[in-house]
Amino acid sequence: MANAAEQLLAYPFGETLPATGAALEVAPGVRWVRMPLPFALDHINLWLLRDIADDGREGWAIVDCGIASDATRAAWELVFEHHLDGLPVLRVVVTHMHPDHIGNAHWLTERWNCRLWISATDWNAARIASQSTTGFGGESAAAFFGEHGLVDPVALDKVRARANYYASMVPEVPRRFRRLLDGQALRVGAHEWRCIVGYGHSPEHIALHCHALGVLISGDMVLPRISTNVSVIDIEPEANPLPLYLQSIAALLQLPADTLVLPSHGRPFRGLHERIGQLTRHHDERLADTVAACRARPCSAADLLPVLFKRPLDLHQTTFAMGEAIAHLHALAASGTLLGRLDMDGVRRFVAAD
Ligand SMILES: [Zn+2]
Repeated sequence: MANAAEQLLAYPFGETLPATGAALEVAPGVRWVRMPLPFALDHINLWLLRDIADDGREGWAIVDCGIASDATRAAWELVFEHHLDGLPVLRVVVTHMHPDHIGNAHWLTERWNCRLWISATDWNAARIASQSTTGFGGESAAAFFGEHGLVDPVALDKVRARANYYASMVPEVPRRFRRLLDGQALRVGAHEWRCIVGYGHSPEHIALHCHALGVLISGDMVLPRISTNVSVIDIEPEANPLPLYLQSIAALLQLPADTLVLPSHGRPFRGLHERIGQLTRHHDERLADTVAACRARPCSAADLLPVLFKRPLDLHQTTFAMGEAIAHLHALAASGTLLGRLDMDGVRRFVAAD
């Protein structure tokens, strides 16, 4: 299904991908950099925007950073050496707090003595996560997944063992930043980019739209092949992120249909409106599947994994999948379609309300 849907999108650069350490121009003054990731999702796209500092110095703004690893830093050094036209990096813009986006922000801002630009909420969340065990592993995450029916002791032990997971990819976050806000106009070189907030994937995700170039840097909010992770995590256990996500992408329908979308994963594409429609239908179908499963018998989030994800999942994917399943259950509980209850065995299960 993903492939059929993908064929409705246009990929102006075809199969061409920038090699690690290289950069490919995708619009005037906009270059595409691709960095490896050690996950099933094996790469992230980063962007270089031709920039001019307040004092008139010419250079580049970097959008997103890759995880903090020797391999990523070595690839960045190649980019600096060969693909910045001999100019410096003037600032680092980060769409959101996830490790593949902010991991190297500290290193980059120190390396170039420049400022990090990010939403205040994601800066705070990244600062806290890099110093603690919240959200991505540890005892609290294991207990949360346990309450949602993940009983496999091996999986839970692995979650517990990942207490340092975020910090391993984001060892430090810059202590100072400049705040990005929804609707803010960001002058980058010759062009103005408008910040567009998005909810449901990270606390306060910022996408960037340049009307003059017809380009949207979508971050993780709109991806061409995979759906954006929309998860409930242990630090906000009653969260209801799915409606927030769907409202956020619906707002992007106001952008022109022929916008060139630069996503964090996958290839640049045209077909923003088509893709938003696909993602909305995808979640509608998953919500319907969730209701059907809970009508047949009371279901925990873990019970829903084989219903919602029809492929084998590794641990990294299982934790994301659990978060997604809980997000769908919470959306349906909030709308009154499902009722949640904590059973005697300590597992939260959901049943149809009618
Ligand atoms: Zn993300």
